[in-house]
Amino acid sequence: DAQHLEDLLLNLDGRGYKAYKDLRGQYQFPDFKLTIDYVQGDPFAAPSQLSVWVPMSVAGFPEHLYASLSREIALRDYLTRAFSQACRQLSQKRGTGKSGAIAVCRLGQEVLARTSAFVNPNGVEIRFTVGLPAQGRRILGRQAAEMLCDDIPELVDRALIYQNLDAAAIQQQVETIEDADWLRSQLSQNNLIAFVADGSILPRRSGVDARPLETNAVPFESPESLRVTFNRPNGGPISGMGIPRGVTLIVGGGYHGKSTLLRAIELGVYNRIPGDGREFVVTDDAAVKIRAEDGRSVRGVDISTFINNLPQGQSTRSFSTENASGSTSQAANIIEAIEAGARVLLIDEDTSATNFTIRDRRMQELIAKEHEPITPFVDRVRPLFDEQGISTILVMGGSGDYFEAADTAIAMTHYRPQNVTEQVKDIAAKYHTGRQPDPQSPLTPPTPRYLLPDSLDPSRGKRAVKWQVRDDDEIIFGSDEIDLSAVEQLVDTGQLRAIAEAMVYLKQDYPHSNQTLAQLLDDIEGAIASQGLDILSPFPVGTLAQFRRFELAAALNRLRSIDIKH
Ligand code: ADP
Ligand code: MG
Repeated sequence: DAQHLEDLLLNLDGRGYKAYKDLRGQYQFPDFKLTIDYVQGDPFAAPSQLSVWVPMSVAGFPEHLYASLSREIALRDYLTRAFSQACRQLSQKRGTGKSGAIAVCRLGQEVLARTSAFVNPNGVEIRFTVGLPAQGRRILGRQAAEMLCDDIPELVDRALIYQNLDAAAIQQQVETIEDADWLRSQLSQNNLIAFVADGSILPRRSGVDARPLETNAVPFESPESLRVTFNRPNGGPISGMGIPRGVTLIVGGGYHGKSTLLRAIELGVYNRIPGDGREFVVTDDAAVKIRAEDGRSVRGVDISTFINNLPQGQSTRSFSTENASGSTSQAANIIEAIEAGARVLLIDEDTSATNFTIRDRRMQELIAKEHEPITPFVDRVRPLFDEQGISTILVMGGSGDYFEAADTAIAMTHYRPQNVTEQVKDIAAKYHTGRQPDPQSPLTPPTPRYLLPDSLDPSRGKRAVKWQVRDDDEIIFGSDEIDLSAVEQLVDTGQLRAIAEAMVYLKQDYPHSNQTLAQLLDDIEGAIASQGLDILSPFPVGTLAQFRRFELAAALNRLRSIDIKH
């Protein structure tokens, strides 16, 4: 029990750090059970992994706060944030000089299913890390006893006991998340791919601070002709701009808010905490941001929809390169997204390759089609929707060549959207571009690819599995480095950690699979949906976050050592 743990720690004082290993096990405290799942090998290694379980008779959360899956995820997220805040307050109180710290996963604006906290009718669980204190390599037993036997009970008391928490804030969080999920579920039956609620605050404080802009933010106001109203289960009626399926252009002058709107739509595949400003911006969950990404590796992707007749006769039915160009990378990103099941493509001119996006009359005249491998997106965007049902939202302030292809056009002026679809149609009729559609092969579905999970190699040196997440956008997988900085819908380090674990899982559980990449993604998605993210890791950790199939595919597709066959 707790007294036993304290005695153990005091006895360890001054001994070599390895002796901490004896701590593994469970300890019953008066109000909860503490489990020490993993003990670090030395003071500089990844910190130790602990968890606390509080029976519901003590924690006291009313059942309606976790009665639906949406609410449960929202409450788990709330508890993680409360615990995190309590950890920070405690370390402030104690001063920063102290070695060793208690921490949960890092949290941004998104509410994601994470392995940091769990709730069910029996109780609540929180998982956290502790840097077990040392002086040099000697155990600081007294300090460790203070952390585990005094600090942890205090943290539990502050963060995991319903009556000590802000009941109104919890209620607001679960209702907000449930409403956002409900809104997202309404999109498809209303022929929409995105909804941006009136009053939303879209701009962020800075490129590195995702909290809402505080001063002079112009709240979103839908144009009447695109306005739709939904009656949320908790919050009641809400109106906003509905973006229909099909091809949508976002136009407007520079600095008038186009990219900010698209960014909010990109992240609308996730839910956000109350106060974020984008709580009720929701997007089809199969929407994928597409951009140019020169330098990435590409393995066996059929990009012939966009690129043909490369110099030196390189095939584009199964295109591979260690160093893609802007246009070939953007083509590969689209084909890979579609292969993984994308229903909506989100593209911003700021991050697109110009020659992939447009090819105007004059250039058609100068460079004959046989010398231009690229069929520009402008000639594919329409058939992608008409023949395959894949919608596109495209930010395009610099060229009117897309006017013919558009179903809907939204102009941003001083951060306010207007529906300019009629004008766009009139202008297209009045001023012909004179361009010919580039002679095209018909749009064919890309050749399916078979990923060979056995070729995934997480080993490094003596270790069979070694991976690491670096700088929030890179996975080091064995001796491979996967650069995910251009995968813009990855929002949380926990997602990268879970993706790395999923790749190890694929290697170990599907080594000889003969499935297409899409089928493998189905399998993993199904396994996580039924058994939770814990199936991915060898022992329970608190640091994994829910990821989408598109981002797992993105990591696999950027792994330079991967083996793929057709
Ligand atoms: P564009 O893509 O049209 O050039 P951006 O979306 O990049 O424009 O926005 C330009 C600037 O305006 C950014 O600094 C952004 O944060 C700010 N901004 C965007 N929307 C709003 C808004 N609704 N209210 C206030 N500032 C905004
Ligand atoms: Mg822009």
